[in-house]
Amino acid sequence: MSEPLTFQALFGGTFDPVHFGHLRPVEMLATQLGLQQITLLPNNVPPHRPQPEASSEQRVKMLSLAIADRPLFNVDCREMARQTPSYTIETLAEVRAERGEHQPLGFIIGQDSLLTLHKWHRWQELLNYCHLLVCKRPGYATKMETPALQQWLEDHQTQDIDRLHQQPAGSVFLADTALLPISATEIRQRFHAGLSCDDLLPASVISWINQQGLYQRRG
Ligand code: ATP
Repeated sequence: MSEPLTFQALFGGTFDPVHFGHLRPVEMLATQLGLQQITLLPNNVPPHRPQPEASSEQRVKMLSLAIADRPLFNVDCREMARQTPSYTIETLAEVRAERGEHQPLGFIIGQDSLLTLHKWHRWQELLNYCHLLVCKRPGYATKMETPALQQWLEDHQTQDIDRLHQQPAGSVFLADTALLPISATEIRQRFHAGLSCDDLLPASVISWINQQGLYQRRG
C-alpha cells in the first residue's frame, strides 16, 4: 500500500529578527491550505554578502522563542550548517530526496520574493521540486516585472487546493493572506532609535533582544 500524502511546507528567510509579518500570513496560509506543519529555514549568509546584525545562533534562538507556543512551526537549521550560500534549489533537492518523489512539498515566499524570483539560482527548476506558496505583502507590485515573467506565473498559477495536496510540485498558489506592513529592517531601525516594537514581533522575542542588548540603541 502506498504511503499517505502529507503536504509539508518550508519557509526560508534571514529572520533578523523573526516578526509577525512572517508568522501571521503564514498561519493564515496554513489554515487556507490545511497545512499541519511549517518548517522555518533560517539561511546562511555567506561572508561576502552584507551580514545579518544577529548571529546565526541568535536568529535561531529568536525563532525558537517565537514558535514556543505555535505548534504549527518547527525550525530546520540545515542551511546554516552548510557554510556555503543558501541556494533554495539545493535545499529543495535535498528535502525532495528525503521525502520521496510523490509527497507534496511547498516553499513559502512573500510577494516581494516572487517579484525577484527570476534572480534566484536555477529559478526555473524550483517548480520541479515544490509548489510555490505566495503570501501577500503590502507595498509590492502584484504583476511580474516583464510580460514573459507574468506569462510564466499565469502558466503555473492554480487556486485548486486539492491539486496542491495531490501533486508533489509544479504550481504557484497566491494565498489570500492579511497585508502586514512589517519588515525586519524597520524593526532593527526602531530598536536602534529606541522606539517600541510591541505589535511587530512576539513579546518573548522582544524581551530576549533587550536582555541580550541586540539591535542596541545607536547615537
Ligand atoms: P529584511 O527587512 O531584513 O529584508 P524581511 O522582513 O523581508 O527582512 P526576511 O527574513 O528577509 O524578512 O523574509 C523571509 C521571507 O518572508 C521572504 O519570502 C519575505 O518575502 C517574507 N516576508 C517578510 N516580511 C513579510 C511581510 N510583512 N508580509 C509577507 N511576507 C513577508
